[in-house]
Amino acid sequence: MTRLACLAALAIAVSACSGGGGSGDVRAGGEIGAGGGTAGGGASGGSGAGNGNGNGVDGGNGGGSDAGVISLGGDGPTAGGSSDGSTAGPAPTAGAANERLTQAEISRRIFDPAVTEFAVRVFREEGANPYTGPLGLTSNDTWDITAESFGELFGAHGERTIAVPRTLAQMPVFEDQGIQNWTIGNLVDLGRSLAPPLSSGSEVGISVIFVNGLYEGNAGILGIHPTNSPFSFVFKDVVESVGSDSTTRRYVEQTTIVHEIGHTIGFVDNGVPMVNAHEDTEHPHHTLDRDGVMYWAVESRNGALAFLTDAIAGSRLSLFGPASLLDAQNYMPSD
Ligand SMILES: [Zn+2]
Repeated sequence: MTRLACLAALAIAVSACSGGGGSGDVRAGGEIGAGGGTAGGGASGGSGAGNGNGNGVDGGNGGGSDAGVISLGGDGPTAGGSSDGSTAGPAPTAGAANERLTQAEISRRIFDPAVTEFAVRVFREEGANPYTGPLGLTSNDTWDITAESFGELFGAHGERTIAVPRTLAQMPVFEDQGIQNWTIGNLVDLGRSLAPPLSSGSEVGISVIFVNGLYEGNAGILGIHPTNSPFSFVFKDVVESVGSDSTTRRYVEQTTIVHEIGHTIGFVDNGVPMVNAHEDTEHPHHTLDRDGVMYWAVESRNGALAFLTDAIAGSRLSLFGPASLLDAQNYMPSD
């Protein structure tokens, strides 16, 4: 079955703060491209048998969308013209690949020490734009959080480039699907139609898809990763409902992204083996490490408040804690 790992809403009110923190050698840029592997999708889950229409995101009513907007058809996106000149758009035939990978296979490819680039690919439904630009009053960019988090996570994996988009132009937009309450079937179908293959040569990339609406009416779910999928989702309306200022919401959004990508690439004990046991058995695939973004209580109001308050106060950019970092450093799968 398709299991879900989600990040519930963080109802918090923390003030903006200042502070520095360099951005290291993480490279910006929305490099999207690939070949090779692809959209997993939990074998049975919602999108398999039982979901009669099989394609809840037909998007067929969008005839006259803006240039550059991906129009979703039954067999994957047909990328519109790239109006911004960015090279960051997916190839017209991206997504909808047939290969289905297990969570363990995804993790092995991601952590293979021969990989030279880890790319975060972001897609956005019209009206569900991710935050970009300065992070509060600091000199950091909002996406430094994702870049730094994965830069540190893969710190032991050679000279691996972390490619993260920084501007909306680097995040392909697709037409509003008109869905208020997403089902797992809708989401997996959407992910499979959008997400490029997981790997191409020595490059790997996972996808994060921003959507409008809620997961089955749940205003408390910020993000979801369907197990066995190289993509995850962020519910922008929920992000917008949390926090009293834009810096907090930026942190909420980036925390959601890092947490969901964390699930996507195999944490906790979901593809990446644990060096020391730190999985919370009552909250599968979450850590007991309170300093880590995969801490289960990040999904709860008080735990999230504590985590984000500390992160914002310290202008923390790298969000994985010691337990997950240790797992990453020690996982060097190679065939
Ligand atoms: Zn989670």
